[in-house]
Amino acid sequence: MKAGEPKPETAAARLEAIRARMSAAAKEAGRKDEITLVAVSKTFDAGAIQPLIDAGQRVFGENRVQEAEAKWPALRAATPGIELHLIGPLQTNKLKQALALFDVFHTLDRERLAEALAAEKARGASLPRLFIQVNTGEEAQKAGVFPREADAFIARAREVHGLSIEGLMCIPPVDEEPALHFALLEKIARRNGIAKLSMGMSADFETAIGFGATHVRVGSALFGTRA
Ligand SMILES: *Cc1c(COP(=O)(O)O)cnc(C)c1O
Repeated sequence: MKAGEPKPETAAARLEAIRARMSAAAKEAGRKDEITLVAVSKTFDAGAIQPLIDAGQRVFGENRVQEAEAKWPALRAATPGIELHLIGPLQTNKLKQALALFDVFHTLDRERLAEALAAEKARGASLPRLFIQVNTGEEAQKAGVFPREADAFIARAREVHGLSIEGLMCIPPVDEEPALHFALLEKIARRNGIAKLSMGMSADFETAIGFGATHVRVGSALFGTRA
């Protein structure tokens, strides 16, 4: 879709448009690996989500445990193969609920949560795939480990807590060039032997793909503006 063209009317058309833009960005970057579209359905109800499922989308992201719990068990029961990603901060008192719902956490962001995950694992829980959130802009209001703490945090998560770390995630500051943050996240991942990068949202997923994103988290471009 080019600027000035009308926005596709249906969820299926919007999904197709995003997928086409992802493919074009991957091609432009000379990439042949698979890039996962995480459809961010926060604030949208089952009626808005079902058309995307019908159009073939299977990977979804939610930022709140309670909201996800209200919507997803029924949607999942109706369609096999749905993968649910937690993309918002997780309180340790909601960990058990989150473990029951989500396949992937993008927001491992502190020692206490790593400890709590390790304890659940010791009790026999199977853990989700884990991404560590890095607060690349060092913003006070945002979760995530600071870039200068990231290497040590990754090492402790692996060695002290026995966690397998699949990826890193970041949310760049709204008023800064996202490319700098994507490049920083990629650098931290590479030097720590981490393969997956969750970065890029509606406004900047093509840029993120250029910097190696393996998971883009797209909400409003698929579902429309959030209330
Ligand atoms: C809401 C949200 C998104 C999606 O943002 P859009 O700009 O609507 O695409 C992505 N990541 C996180 C962590 C979010 O909370």
